[in-house]
Amino acid sequence: MTKTKSWVLTEPAKMALQEFDIPEVGSTDILVKVKVTCICGSDPHWYHNDDNCAKYPLILGHEFAGIVEKIGDEAASRYGVKVGDKITVEPYLACGHCEYCATGHYQLCTAKMCYGISITCDSAPYINGAYGEYILVRSGSKVFKVDDDVSFEEAAMSSVIGNGYRLVVDKAQLKPNQSALVLGPGALGLCTVIAAKEAGVYPLIVVGVGDADDNRLALAKEFGADYTIRLDKEDIVARVSEITKGKMCDAVLECSGAVPAYKTAFSCIKTLGTIVLLGITGGRDVPILIDQIVKKELQIKGSIGQPNDVDYAMKTINKKKYPIAKMITTKFPMSKADEAIEFFMSKKDPSCIRVALYND
Ligand SMILES: [Zn+2]
Ligand SMILES: [Zn+2]
Repeated sequence: MTKTKSWVLTEPAKMALQEFDIPEVGSTDILVKVKVTCICGSDPHWYHNDDNCAKYPLILGHEFAGIVEKIGDEAASRYGVKVGDKITVEPYLACGHCEYCATGHYQLCTAKMCYGISITCDSAPYINGAYGEYILVRSGSKVFKVDDDVSFEEAAMSSVIGNGYRLVVDKAQLKPNQSALVLGPGALGLCTVIAAKEAGVYPLIVVGVGDADDNRLALAKEFGADYTIRLDKEDIVARVSEITKGKMCDAVLECSGAVPAYKTAFSCIKTLGTIVLLGITGGRDVPILIDQIVKKELQIKGSIGQPNDVDYAMKTINKKKYPIAKMITTKFPMSKADEAIEFFMSKKDPSCIRVALYND
């Protein structure tokens, strides 16, 4: 076979299947046969180009797992994988030499190259996203082997669990038996629960709002959350105070991007606590309580991506301790990726957490 098909966005909200030549596989490259791609919560943003940051033509898809179809000699020795192995890949294609790459912050690489997000498909090797049959992974990537008995859908969640590790370990720097409040029980919040449990956080409290979050909060409990709170049914400040014996939380991990969540974050944080922000508000104004930051000596940290954290995530997934696949609530064949992203964006199914696309 010399041809392959991928879904190409040529302009906002216009996505169609296109055929490409399968590229030559160089010494540092891996040709991956994509098995499962999850639709990330950020994909609609690139699909609609709502802040004019998207570059087209673009093949979406950065949360994926697949099989090594072909691999160059140098890539095989770098990553320790061979033809037929199951792998997953970090979204980043780091330049390796800019100021940020050189200091280990390659999520902020000035070249801004991420598979399925920011590498256009108008020049070779074209297949730069995982909404398709194949993707070419190149030098500057991080590749992780997936154990044979782990499913592709679980492995495709590796970057999201990596996000969780970044919040809990790198940013909040939580120690065992320190408390945390996770705001928003979507895929990011749930993956943060997994990372927090692995880090020994206690008590771990997860907050949702509305009936639609009931199944997500139930899954948070399955992942090990100690308490769940429905914001619309309970007095959150009173409840967190009761759970933490009046001390409030060492960290608040904001995973929702909902404007009211920021007020909740400031109401539930302990003196000297850390608020980590991952949710994106879409440019909306959010009132910030500066006096509280000063008087409580709070730390407020932003977090983007999962540099250096997918390794921890993949080790966690390979342990098979958590029912990670339960986050994938809806499945579509890759041939219906256009319908799948429309379904995801329509919010028709309030219980939907992640939608996954499958190749045979
Ligand atoms: Zn993602
Ligand atoms: Zn760089």
